[in-house]
Amino acid sequence: MKIIIIGSVAAGTSVAAKARRNDENAEITLYNADYDISYSICGIPYFLGGEVDELETLTPRSAAWFKKRYNVDIHTRHEVIEIDPDKKIITVKNLDTSETKEDNYDTLVFATGATPITPPIKGVDMNHVFHVRNIQNTASINSFMVSNNPKKVTIIGAGFIGLEMAEQLTHKGLEVTIVQRSNQIMPHLDKDMAFRVEEHSISEITE
Ligand SMILES: Cc1cc2nc3c(=O)[nH]c(=O)nc-3n(C[C@H](O)[C@H](O)[C@H](O)COP(=O)(O)OP(=O)(O)OC[C@H]3O[C@@H](n4cnc5c(N)ncnc54)[C@H](O)[C@@H]3O)c2cc1C
Repeated sequence: MKIIIIGSVAAGTSVAAKARRNDENAEITLYNADYDISYSICGIPYFLGGEVDELETLTPRSAAWFKKRYNVDIHTRHEVIEIDPDKKIITVKNLDTSETKEDNYDTLVFATGATPITPPIKGVDMNHVFHVRNIQNTASINSFMVSNNPKKVTIIGAGFIGLEMAEQLTHKGLEVTIVQRSNQIMPHLDKDMAFRVEEHSISEITE
């Protein structure tokens, strides 16, 4: 049995570990377009806010660790660019060298996660506009803050991540404005619950 998993963050590495427990002999290979594997995304706002000291503590696992622990092969900076489901073959591009290669599978798992929405607004590609998504974005935001010592920040999106960023950057001393397109923060909560979070955010975070 040969299993290929696309994506090696939370879902991909969990699947790999479980697949190994189920089958000692399976050949398990992961391809991940990004640099890092199985990292603590949840800690990103807390690193930027200063509660987590070192960015490296958010990336405790390496491909070598997974190989030793679970005997799975993880290839980072490798993007799956084509799938032939009839032949059960994928085409993978090495994003560092641009070389491509094919690999075959018996089972293919998508653990490709999600990408942030980029609103079509003017200036969104400027060098002081960031996504909060992965370790590279985080390093860029941190290095911008260290070099430029910004005083004000606007956060687009008042879901969990937006509010965590608001809390952390407020604690860091920045003046924070949140922009949310719906008529309440935490849009997935009922209005009467979101109202309480909003009240708390205004009274507690900003104090
Ligand atoms: C700042 C932040 C804070 C968060 N905090 C929390 C929290 O406190 N609690 C919580 O439960 N959740 C939190 N989340 C959400 C959580 O991080 C995600 O639910 C989780 O990362 C999803 O993991 P995943 O493996 O499904 O996908 P992802 O983490 O999106 O990983 C998918 C991987 O697949 C790769 N990939 C995609 N397409 C291809 C391709 N074609 N070829 C190769 N590789 C590909 C991507 O490069 C990526 O590395 C947070 C997210 C963020 C951004």
